[in-house]
Amino acid sequence: MKDMNQFRGKRVLVLGLAKSGFAASQLLHRLGATIIVNDAKPLEENEQAKQLEQIGIDVVCGAHPVSLLDEPVDFIVKNPGVPYSNPIVKAAIERGISVVTEIELASLLSEADMIAITGSNGKTTTTTLIVDMLKGSGREPLVAGNIGTVACEVAETATINNIIVTEVSSFQLMGTERFHPKVSVFLNLFDAHLDYHGTREEYGKAKAKIFANLTEDDFAVINAEDRDVVSLASQTKARLIPFSVTKEVSDGAYIKDEVVYFQGEEIISVADIVLPGKHNLENVLAAVAASLLMGATRKQITEVLKTFSGVKHRLQYVGTKNGRKFFNDSKATNSLATQKALTAFDAPIVLLAGGLDRGNGFDDLLPYLKKVKAVITFGETKSKLVKTAQVAGVQWIRETKNAETAVQEAYNLSERGDVILLSPACASWDQYRTFEERGDKFIAAIGKLME
Ligand code: ADP
Repeated sequence: MKDMNQFRGKRVLVLGLAKSGFAASQLLHRLGATIIVNDAKPLEENEQAKQLEQIGIDVVCGAHPVSLLDEPVDFIVKNPGVPYSNPIVKAAIERGISVVTEIELASLLSEADMIAITGSNGKTTTTTLIVDMLKGSGREPLVAGNIGTVACEVAETATINNIIVTEVSSFQLMGTERFHPKVSVFLNLFDAHLDYHGTREEYGKAKAKIFANLTEDDFAVINAEDRDVVSLASQTKARLIPFSVTKEVSDGAYIKDEVVYFQGEEIISVADIVLPGKHNLENVLAAVAASLLMGATRKQITEVLKTFSGVKHRLQYVGTKNGRKFFNDSKATNSLATQKALTAFDAPIVLLAGGLDRGNGFDDLLPYLKKVKAVITFGETKSKLVKTAQVAGVQWIRETKNAETAVQEAYNLSERGDVILLSPACASWDQYRTFEERGDKFIAAIGKLME
């Protein structure tokens, strides 16, 4: 850990607990700060708040009273999920109090270099690839954040012999001021989370904060085919390392004649990469670039690419029954992810889609439905998806109860050689607690069918 004493004597308000707020409270407490925790969940139901109270932290639960700012507060650690429209956040900003997320603390404390990955889609896949590729590089990679341990906890124990690899969302990045990775990876920018950010411009601006503190000694790995990403990276002082699946970018990672290259050096044949889908090639190029910049060996990179078949719930191959291949892409919670999934296959597709209605339409799926022979839809958006499928001229269109009941229907409508794909284009919260639960139940239903 570096600058252990930087938070000593500070008065910090931790707004919103969950995993990251809980970890940040304990860490700052250990480092000698005075913590006040404020969480919306009432104390009776709030195990985390009770635990923090027991170690001597002040907790205020059940509401977010602005009066908490009456006593001086040095800064606020805000859970990324707490919106900026929350009155206490607004009041804090008006009073000039800095509002950061836990990832900022991680960056301020970490002795280890950090690779940060952002983008609307592909963060988890790319993060996982980079971690696997860095193994055996001489500096042990540590995964932090969404798919690992809370970043500030990892930062507390990481040394210069580690590399922290972490995906960062726009919500987290908005709460950064001095966040400083060694390598920042920006994969793509699509319309997402506009309910939180208001406009696409604001969303882009939040994501671009991943570059804000990079210096000439750092690297910005960027998707050369995404105009927004290229434009948002144009201000950075870091060395730009582009990647592209279609054009030769000699200073970065690219594909030429079905071979992956990095800065002119041959890495692997595309045919040897197990991960399906063109979108995953983008993630592969980003991961190859980032991991090579941080000392990964070519041998380890090729080994990973020859074996890694995808992260669970992301275009995950589940099994085959009578020539029908089942794929679980439950993580596809927006149209863009579903578009990518649909372009990953040459075979006819039976698409299982639907879920939470966020008010958007699905016209952007239309050009991708050509190979789709059947759509089976469920959840709040089912009538919208029926209409989209009709406009696209899909042969079979069915409504069903949920992702599980869709399995048998899909099987009935399919034939040998087809792909049966759950790629909902919607969040799961209308029917499931999480996209993981939706995917697991889908897999279980396939298991039953296999019996
Ligand atoms: P994230 O962590 O950003 O949500 P994941 O790696 O979990 O991304 O993938 C989420 C979904 O996005 C997957 O279902 C996949 O089909 C799609 N996806 C993955 N990588 C990309 C990419 N580079 N471009 C567009 N879509 C992608």
